[in-house]
Amino acid sequence: MMNGTELANQSPPYEDVDLYGSDRPLQDAVAHNAGGAEAETLAAFGRRWGSAAMFECGRQANAHPPQLAALDAQGFRRDTVEFHPAYHDLMAESVSEGLSASTWTADARPASPPAQVLRAARFYMAAQVETGHVCPLTMTRAAVAALSAEPKLAAMVAPKILARRYDRRFIPWWEKEGVTLGMGMTERQGGTDVRNNTSKAVPAGEGYLVTGHKWFMSAPMCDFFQVLAQAPGGLTCFLMPRFRPDGSVNALHFQRLKDKLGNRSNASSEVEFVDAFAWRVGEEGRGIRTIIQMVQLTRLDCAIASAGLMRMALAQALHHARHRIVFQKRLVDQPMMAGVLADMALEADAAIALVMRLCRSFDLAASDPREAARARLLTPAIKFWVCKRAPAFVYEAMECLGGNGYVEDSLLPRLYREAPVNAIWEGSGNVMGLDVLRAATQDGAQAVLDALAEDAAGLPGVREARALIGQTLAAGETQARLAVERLALLAAAAALRVSAPASVAELFARTRLNGPRGVMLGTSDMSAAEIDALLARALPE
Ligand SMILES: Cc1cc2nc3c(=O)[nH]c(=O)nc-3n(C[C@H](O)[C@H](O)[C@H](O)COP(=O)(O)OP(=O)(O)OC[C@H]3O[C@@H](n4cnc5c(N)ncnc54)[C@H](O)[C@@H]3O)c2cc1C
Repeated sequence: MMNGTELANQSPPYEDVDLYGSDRPLQDAVAHNAGGAEAETLAAFGRRWGSAAMFECGRQANAHPPQLAALDAQGFRRDTVEFHPAYHDLMAESVSEGLSASTWTADARPASPPAQVLRAARFYMAAQVETGHVCPLTMTRAAVAALSAEPKLAAMVAPKILARRYDRRFIPWWEKEGVTLGMGMTERQGGTDVRNNTSKAVPAGEGYLVTGHKWFMSAPMCDFFQVLAQAPGGLTCFLMPRFRPDGSVNALHFQRLKDKLGNRSNASSEVEFVDAFAWRVGEEGRGIRTIIQMVQLTRLDCAIASAGLMRMALAQALHHARHRIVFQKRLVDQPMMAGVLADMALEADAAIALVMRLCRSFDLAASDPREAARARLLTPAIKFWVCKRAPAFVYEAMECLGGNGYVEDSLLPRLYREAPVNAIWEGSGNVMGLDVLRAATQDGAQAVLDALAEDAAGLPGVREARALIGQTLAAGETQARLAVERLALLAAAAALRVSAPASVAELFARTRLNGPRGVMLGTSDMSAAEIDALLARALPE
């Protein structure tokens, strides 16, 4: 006799799952790029973050978005933002796990390999459960790269980052156990072209006084912000604390919080600086150069987080399809649905292989110029491809759940709303195209392309892809998107070749670099055996 659950024909909630142990592509990518390091710790992290309690924190942090308290009852400025306790819980977990710190040593130097890969594995799992709170984590860890231009500031701030303590109190940073950092680059008249910034910085005492406006400044309860402003010598990077050195509240006047499509647990403010105190970071006029390494790291994190969104969307879809019966069969056993899921599994496999191989390049960059060149060329290409694939991917996963996928009780609407932002911030799609064009003219870029072709040698379509990338890069801006997309696909085939089973790399190259395929997921020509193998690898039953 059937019980009520069977009659309902609904899939059980996807929670209390092991985000590491159930993710073979992640395990393979970690094993290849980091060896066996910390497998046990990652497994514990995967179980913790896959718990129903963590999913519930993610839900609550988004159901109760942050609120701005601009003024108090008497009209005096407060300029604070109140978050739901679930947001603080997520931050506390992630900060203590080193997501904002673990790629740096105590003296603000890059931690030894495979620090990038191991952090990325955690970051990818955390992003699957809640993506809004990773914004301040990524800004905090990346900020250390810019601060290294100013050793005194780095020595002052880095230990508080490295402490791995989340301290939510609104008190001066020196009284806090740990700090977080945000960024104020974008102004109303220009975000990409920050040379248009009009905020002004005037030297005053031990620092500068900054006056101006930022159109987007996320995570406004951070303790410091890296800000670009025009100093007498030109566009310059500054470190702006929430409290002045004399202990008074600094003049960051929040005007409103953005009403955003997604990313709701995270606050994004519009802010006015009124003679706000800041220290200079790097030389006057060298603002863009000072933030360049920092921006590379935030772009890397965008790609990792989008790979995480894809993974969670895939897991939800596959889990549902294994439980839902349609026309006397499980959904997953209906050939067309199996084809959709397998195409998604292949693409998610490629996304994690790509970002982990890229993290390895970041790990090795200091000691190996070839890896430094690889990171330089591939970071914008991989951010472009992974972040742009995520929205369409999540949408397809939503459809796999049918009507339930469109309803807030499932995680899919939140994943869907979250997905586009990673492509927009930290350099939007075209900006990534321009950056790849720039990087392609630099020393070592051609050798990177050759190395990718070599890693993927023998796979279908590799030679043609290498040739097309050369031609389209040479054609410049008009063909840059084609060049970047093909570059990311070649890099994905190369990454899968070294970290995934041979059959997965072969299948990816056959369906993405070679041969006919439609633009939608589910249009790849795969045999039933290939589909079964991909789905078994994606998520154990
Ligand atoms: C939720 C959210 C949070 C954010 N948080 C922060 C934050 O904390 N700090 C911060 O500083 N910023 C933040 N931003 C701003 C974000 O970084 C910018 O929106 C982004 O950099 C794009 O800048 P823009 O909005 O001024 O668009 P524009 O610079 O006007 O660009 C518009 C479009 O034009 C394209 N484009 C630009 N130049 C070219 C070109 N030469 N050729 C072809 N196409 C081009 C871009 O790719 C983009 O698609 C946030 C944005 C969002 C959505």
